[in-house]
Amino acid sequence: MFKTGGPEVMEYVDVEVGDPGPGEVRIRHVACGLNFIDVYFRSGLYPQPLPAGLGQEAAGVIDAVGPDVRHVQVGDRVSYATRPNGAYSELRVMPAAFLVKLPDSISFETAAAMTLQGLTVQYLFRRTFPLRGGETILFHAAAGGVGLIASQWAKALGVTMIGTVSSDEKAALATAAGCAHVINYKTENFVERVREITGGKGVPVVYDSIGKDTFIGSLDSLAPLGTMVSFGNASGAVPPFSLNELASRGSLTITRPSLPSYISTRADLDAAAADLFHMVDSKQIKIDINQRYALKDVAQAHADLEARKTTGSTILIP
Ligand code: NDP
Repeated sequence: MFKTGGPEVMEYVDVEVGDPGPGEVRIRHVACGLNFIDVYFRSGLYPQPLPAGLGQEAAGVIDAVGPDVRHVQVGDRVSYATRPNGAYSELRVMPAAFLVKLPDSISFETAAAMTLQGLTVQYLFRRTFPLRGGETILFHAAAGGVGLIASQWAKALGVTMIGTVSSDEKAALATAAGCAHVINYKTENFVERVREITGGKGVPVVYDSIGKDTFIGSLDSLAPLGTMVSFGNASGAVPPFSLNELASRGSLTITRPSLPSYISTRADLDAAAADLFHMVDSKQIKIDINQRYALKDVAQAHADLEARKTTGSTILIP
């Protein structure tokens, strides 16, 4: 990518990969993940020095190891969900520090589809606002990549999830995944529906990845002392707001979390990955890979993601 803009700014080019330096590995990718954060970097909402690669998630085999790398070796099956961008590639050199070793039970495609989105649901539900079971929560975009994993994880925890979606087809998917109440926010007022479902009380937590379009409605859906977890901006960045918005609705708490902070130590990453693998291996979560594109068709994949045509997870095959 030499400039920011629409999907057409991505170019499929040959670059010299080279050998890994100290603390680095070279990985041959088998499958790469598509995530909404890639759109933010491509469009320029999240800045980065150019020219640059894109993509933060992939799975593959270690093909060379640089000096001072001890926890992985050539031939290991690994995945990752981390910066720097550059996962949209056949082969890359990257830091070894935050690679996840894949158990035999997890295929490359599943790993590429779930490492970033699954680790996200893991920290949202276990750490940002820890769910114990019995809560009723609001989670937007319930049929998306993160959303279908969240629907299943909530059900497994005994949590009643209210999910929002933009079509009846997406509502059916979220329901089948375990989302207890699904609201079509194109045709229904989600704030009113949340009040109805909760008997007027509101929810203790909203997980909001939509941003601009849902921000105020999400605050309005909270019970007093509730927590707003604003973790994305699919509709655009949340505009500046007054802290009085939190006081006037009953001493709300707000946080704007991001995955890298939750997996920044080896211990945190290993614990989170083990939790995610357990949920998948025990069949409490099934990863829905509903779209596959050739990596060279990534512009079409971005266009479809932004046009809200995708559901569940999407992978790119190099
Ligand atoms: P999704 O598969 O969920 O795709 C985004 C979905 O957002 C769409 O399918 C659509 O669902 C909904 N949406 C609502 N308004 C818009 C709009 N104006 N344009 C496009 N989509 C819209 O993507 P991901 O699973 O990759 O990511 C989900 C969200 O989670 C993103 O906002 C992402 O940035 C965030 N995220 C944050 C992380 C963090 O650590 N902070 C980590 C991972 C993801 P519908 O049609 O049903 O409304």
